Amino acid sequence: MSNVTVCVRFRPLSHKERKANGDKICFRKLDSESFVVKDEREEDVIFSFDKVFYENAEQSDVYNFLAVPIVSDAISGTNGTIITYGQTGAGKTYSMEGPSILHCNQQKTGLVQRVVNELFESLLKSSTSMSTWTVKLSMVEIYLEKVRDLLDLSKDNLQIKESKTQGIYISGATEISITNSSDALESLSQGIANRAVGETQMNLASSRSHCLYIFTVQHGSTSDERVKSGKIILVDLAGSEKVEKTGAEGRVLDEAKTINKSLSALGNVINALTTGKQNHVPFRDSKLTRILQDALVCQKFLLDYFVGREVSSRLQDPAAFLNPTHCRV
Ligand code: ADP
Ligand code: MG
Repeated sequence: MSNVTVCVRFRPLSHKERKANGDKICFRKLDSESFVVKDEREEDVIFSFDKVFYENAEQSDVYNFLAVPIVSDAISGTNGTIITYGQTGAGKTYSMEGPSILHCNQQKTGLVQRVVNELFESLLKSSTSMSTWTVKLSMVEIYLEKVRDLLDLSKDNLQIKESKTQGIYISGATEISITNSSDALESLSQGIANRAVGETQMNLASSRSHCLYIFTVQHGSTSDERVKSGKIILVDLAGSEKVEKTGAEGRVLDEAKTINKSLSALGNVINALTTGKQNHVPFRDSKLTRILQDALVCQKFLLDYFVGREVSSRLQDPAAFLNPTHCRV
């Protein structure tokens, strides 16, 4: 039994798409798990997932389905991951951060902040005079297979290591202890601002790098030496669009190659995990899969995106990327 969950979220067409481009929604809702798209021969193709979130789905719907179990598992010592996959403009960052991590109304608050709020709420609720807990936050970005610390820009090439006690970890990555939601928000906005600083310096667009929010939760009791440790990793992946390689050179070509390589490495790892070929899971094929290794093995969720008008041209892509048992064609 696989514990990978794959969902699709359709975002609403923007005003410009609707008015200026005259784009139309090209899928038909079947139910909360399936939708229909016409192929090039005008025949219906049904796609099924664990859940389909249509345009009017709220951030809280996505959160309740995907993240609630991850938060409670992390407190009891099990790792979990949520990954947003899709092309640039599909809505990955919106789902993670909302329209803006700092300025948004409650209804639009994204997954990251909801996870933080729920973590502290649950920890406080379950805490007694005998219990202790800590939550630490790291934020890193993977660009051209280099891991950059978003909480300390001087660390721009962090190494991934493994130890018996810590499992897989990013050596030297800044870990900020956070004790409440507003602390967390401050550090998160710092990381997001640093990402933007890096972009102007290095001329890199956030759509070309993977961004990872890593929460480590330790929970124990003073009467018992044992401490439960769980990790939640939220990943805003680089855009999955195919970069035109013809004519591309230098940095653009390097970006295209490394993004393709790491997204296909992720696809291979997920396929190996979900098809039972667990004796050889190629975690070491990219920095992304290596960092996610122990969070993907324990529990993993995947969120996939389509933009209405792009859906039919992209059907091949996620179908290959995801566990084929999730796609009934
Ligand atoms: P990505 O991170 O995948 O490149 P964004 O999250 O930046 O895409 O989304 C692209 C645009 O669409 C943004 O202007 C964002 O505010 C808007 N958007 C994305 N998802 C939704 C949604 N569910 N509802 C309303 N607007 C959305
Ligand atoms: Mg984005």
